[in-house]
Amino acid sequence: MRVILLGAPGSGKGTQAAGLAQQLKVARISTGDIFRDEITKKTELGTRADEYVKSGRLVPDQLVLNMVFKRLDQSDCSGGFLLDGFPRTVDQAEGLNSYLAKKSLKIDYVFYLDVSEDVLIQRLSQRRHCPGCQMVYNLLTNPPQADSVCDRCGGKLISRGDDEPNTLKKRLMVYQELTSPLVAYYKASGHFAAIDGAKVAADVAQEIAGHLGGAKI
Ligand code: AMP
Repeated sequence: MRVILLGAPGSGKGTQAAGLAQQLKVARISTGDIFRDEITKKTELGTRADEYVKSGRLVPDQLVLNMVFKRLDQSDCSGGFLLDGFPRTVDQAEGLNSYLAKKSLKIDYVFYLDVSEDVLIQRLSQRRHCPGCQMVYNLLTNPPQADSVCDRCGGKLISRGDDEPNTLKKRLMVYQELTSPLVAYYKASGHFAAIDGAKVAADVAQEIAGHLGGAKI
């Protein structure tokens, strides 16, 4: 199965993607995680992406598309994949369509996590993440058991640099301008469901599972 999770920063894509990919037994591809990893490792791609990620802008489409296609060509994606944070522009969506069409494949479901800007800002300012294992916490709704320590791997939790107020504002503007048109784009393509992403994570997961209904989950 091939699934896209669409939504603004802070809409809960990452939280849902982790559980859903496991349930569907498909590869989870988070372009944000890949960029952060490449930046940490100081690879050529990481060095090129760094300035964009730091400032809350989108990495140029061609760089993103090359990276995603290379990732989708790997064997763990042959049984399906879940895309988290990609596509983020109409050009990226068109690029993905062409890539899939060449392989006679298609996207099975697009889930749009709909969350108001007030809730997004509140959530992102309380977000902490573990740079070691990528676990994400929210100090209000999903805090770690011990202060600033990752429950899963014991790593020290930090606030993402791009969750700082100014960069955050920029990311939300970029989302509105470049990514939100994808809602109409995918609505028109069928197998699209808008989910109330302001609900607690377990309820959002249940609603997604309900849409997948007869699908293998
Ligand atoms: P995320 O973790 O998904 O919020 O992504 C963090 C940052 O990585 C974004 O603010 C962008 O700078 C970059 N990024 C992630 N995915 C994409 C994408 N599909 N297109 C362009 N830039 C991206």
